[in-house]
Amino acid sequence: MINKSSPIAVASRSFTKSKELRQRLEQNFDSVKYNEELLHFDEESLITFLNGSEAAIISEDKITKRVIDGTPDLKVVSKFGVGLDGIDLEYLKEKNIVLGWKPGVNASSVAELALSYIILLLREAYQLNREMLNSNWKKVSNSRDLSGMKIGIIGFGHIGKKLADYFSIHESEVLVYDPLIDQKEKISDFIELTSLEFLLENSDAISIHIPLLDSTRGLIGKNEISKMKKGSVLVNLSRGGIVDESSIYKALRTNHLSGAAFDVFENEPINSEKFNSRLLELNNFFATPHIAGTSNQTIQKLGVSAINCLIDECQDC
Ligand code: NAD
Repeated sequence: MINKSSPIAVASRSFTKSKELRQRLEQNFDSVKYNEELLHFDEESLITFLNGSEAAIISEDKITKRVIDGTPDLKVVSKFGVGLDGIDLEYLKEKNIVLGWKPGVNASSVAELALSYIILLLREAYQLNREMLNSNWKKVSNSRDLSGMKIGIIGFGHIGKKLADYFSIHESEVLVYDPLIDQKEKISDFIELTSLEFLLENSDAISIHIPLLDSTRGLIGKNEISKMKKGSVLVNLSRGGIVDESSIYKALRTNHLSGAAFDVFENEPINSEKFNSRLLELNNFFATPHIAGTSNQTIQKLGVSAINCLIDECQDC
């Protein structure tokens, strides 16, 4: 347990930038420090920043064995976000450090961005915008709206379910692959639970919403991409490392896929604002810098949830 006077360290940059969240946290805790320089921490600098704190609010910061060993006062780690892939969960448990985490908080914000990327790619709007930036007035060659489209959703958790809901009003068919889903769960009539293979072979657009685990790393590799329907599109807003980037590059170059949109990458910059990938050279590849879960509204929701997780562990708040 912690208490009202326990030192709290906020590593999350989005949280640090929000006046409202800072006020709310300080209403409950007396001693808070923030990542005022908005640093992207590596292991060493994170240990230095967290040193002496009993609780931390972290976002994409990696809580490794080394970080845990280097911060012996830490009792609670509260996650600003939903992905847990950067946290050594077993070691955290071994050291009796509580993880504050609430799933699904940013599901709507990710799902609606996935929907918009699917539309942008299927209508060729993104590809044609790239042409226009080169002064080319080119018309569509294979523009598809959502009616009658088969949309494949890999991972039917908070985000996958929300995304499926959006398609119900667009007369699309939804194919879902999620081996962990409870078969007894009530699924709407327009959704079909399928194998990964069937989904790959039959979807016009595929959107990925699974965690990065040992079992999902490289799940969509050369073999899986080759099974995808010719001219289909792929959207990945989950985690880098799940899709093999070099295979996607080849599939886009040869127009086996007509487009892809990624918000996440295998090697995202930590201490630099620069990002390089040969995928960015392709006219049919659209990219954003890991922003799917962070709209203004979601930042507030994630922040409140992270604060509440600390309050739950506080004996006199
Ligand atoms: P969730 O835990 O609610 O759902 C994940 C689903 O994936 C579960 O239903 C699970 O059964 C399924 N799954 C696990 N292994 C699978 C496999 N091998 N094949 C198919 N399905 C599998 O998580 P969520 O809230 O829906 O988020 C999904 C992921 O999206 C998160 O783990 C996170 O990494 C990522 N995410 C990214 C952003 C962003 O900013 N880009 C924001 C939020 C979440």
